[in-house]
Formats: sequence, C-alpha cells, structure tokens
Amino acid sequence: MAYKNYMEDAVIDELIGVLEQLKEACACERCREDIVTYALNRLPAKYVATDLGNVYTKLHQVKAQAKTDIVVRLMEAAKVVKENPRH
Ligand SMILES: [Zn+2]
Repeated sequence: MAYKNYMEDAVIDELIGVLEQLKEACACERCREDIVTYALNRLPAKYVATDLGNVYTKLHQVKAQAKTDIVVRLMEAAKVVKENPRH
C-alpha cells in the first residue's frame, strides 16, 4: 500500500499562477522551494492511497476543495519569502 499527499501536487500546481500574479516575487529555485514549504506547513495534508484509482482525479478533487486556501497561503508565503530571501 502506498500513500501520497496530494496537497503537495496541488500547491505546486497553483504556484505558477500565483508567481505570475505577483510579478515582484522572486521565482528562483530557492525561493520557490521556500514558498512551497511555507504553504505546505500551513495547509492540511491530503493523503490518499495511490491504488485507489485515478491520480489525476484525486489531484483535481483536492484542488477543487482547497484552491482558495492554497492560493491564500501561497500569496502569504511569497510575501514572507520576499521579505526574507535566502537566495
Ligand atoms: Zn530567489
């Protein structure tokens, strides 16, 4: 039995759109990693057994349910990282 935290994929999927909206946010690899880590630590994990059907469908469900929270957390994360860059 294998498990996957779909919140990870959902956050990474939304990151690109958020960085496009926040033109001043740094999109270097270090900052992107810091933004994703910050957001994931403040969002609920969404574990699903990977043998329970279509991976794409699960990701879509997680995104549909949590999109607003994900975007809010990513915006917040981008702001914090911008103020405390580690690159
Ligand atoms: Zn950077």
